[in-house]
Amino acid sequence: MKVLLVGGGGREHALAWALSASPLLTKLWCAPGNAGIAELAECVAIGAEDVPALVDFAKRNAVDLVVVGPEAPLTLGLADACAEAGLRCFGPSAAAAKLEGSKTFTREVTTAAGVPGAEWAQFEDAEAARAYLRQKGAPIVVKADGLAAGKGVVVAQTVEEAEAAIADIMESRVHGEAGARILLEECLLGQEVSFFALCDGTTALPMAAAQDHKRVGDGDTGPNTGGMGAYSPPPAFTPALEAEVMDRIVRPSLAEMAKRGTPFRGVLFVGLMLTEAGPKLIEFNVRFGDPECQVLMLRLQSDLLAALVAACDGELNRFSLRWSNEAAMVVVMAARGYPGSYVKNTVIEGLEDAARIPGAQVFHAGTARREDGALVSTGGRVLGVAGTGASLQQARDAAYAAVDAIRWPEGFCRRDIGWRAL
Ligand code: AMP
Repeated sequence: MKVLLVGGGGREHALAWALSASPLLTKLWCAPGNAGIAELAECVAIGAEDVPALVDFAKRNAVDLVVVGPEAPLTLGLADACAEAGLRCFGPSAAAAKLEGSKTFTREVTTAAGVPGAEWAQFEDAEAARAYLRQKGAPIVVKADGLAAGKGVVVAQTVEEAEAAIADIMESRVHGEAGARILLEECLLGQEVSFFALCDGTTALPMAAAQDHKRVGDGDTGPNTGGMGAYSPPPAFTPALEAEVMDRIVRPSLAEMAKRGTPFRGVLFVGLMLTEAGPKLIEFNVRFGDPECQVLMLRLQSDLLAALVAACDGELNRFSLRWSNEAAMVVVMAARGYPGSYVKNTVIEGLEDAARIPGAQVFHAGTARREDGALVSTGGRVLGVAGTGASLQQARDAAYAAVDAIRWPEGFCRRDIGWRAL
């Protein structure tokens, strides 16, 4: 099979790595890819959001499957454009991708499906939101409805903080039109877990769960980032909890989406809070998480390509996925200054030494090859340095041994990934 993978981060490197292991694969392209992906696939200079150029490339090269990594092309209708062109595409339609694009839409769908989640209300008027806030009190969560680059959520500990968030989001429009509507949500307490399910529109297969670290600094301090590390499986997420999440959250939501005429095909990323009253939904995303995808791919034993094709063709009811009992952990190495401003084009060395460490695997995110062959950084999050092992501690030892083998003075990482589980 000829496959076009869309994206160029650590998630896509991990997907390229898993796809490359498939006996079904004959050719892999990646648009736009990165220096690590270039060792496994032919990278093509098309942006991940250039929907017409991606479809044109896939048609001209008779691609059998388009695999979409990030959410932006899905929101822009890449899966719909592929369907129109007669191309098989792994990823939801724009209508189904609304599960990530609009928080109020998700809450409407999941409330109709009877999914356990926080009590919530939506507002298009700041005064009405303030009245509800005075009635409910704090702590309370204020959310912009639309996509706000992961910054549209304020967990307010006081009424004053919540009032400021309402004013910022609705009146000052700090996130633009994403704040035309807001949600006020009950504040849930517990451990957060990300769970992934493979969906073909009607059938959902459980994949695996992971926990990530969003804050930039050790001890979960400092500003939020795209994710500084992750591990799988999370010890708190038992098989019984997984079964409960499939029965009470994933399958009812999938059935509700199908009933509305917008069946969901792709990976459903289920953001959960493990509360004292059981697992509750925080949010859906419509793609693999990054860096969570990296630890999932290290634990997947089944053929990823065959699974994605079955999801596209509505044949997951005849499919099952095997997972390794081993643990996996990834430590993100980022450019100094991230998530603020940082310098690009700094030289990274020592990846060959890292690769020799037993159980280690390095995924590239923001990297490129300079003309002289040197590996240079091109983004904020630059490498996903992963390890696997019989226990989470062994996975962590392998990951940090690999980190220590990499010579990149302008980079940094957290030293405490997995602290909660260990
Ligand atoms: P979201 O973009 O909806 O995932 O929210 C971002 C983060 O805000 C989540 O990962 C949680 O840490 C936190 N959060 C969101 N909703 C709630 C809630 N109802 N209760 C407590 N924390 C929440």
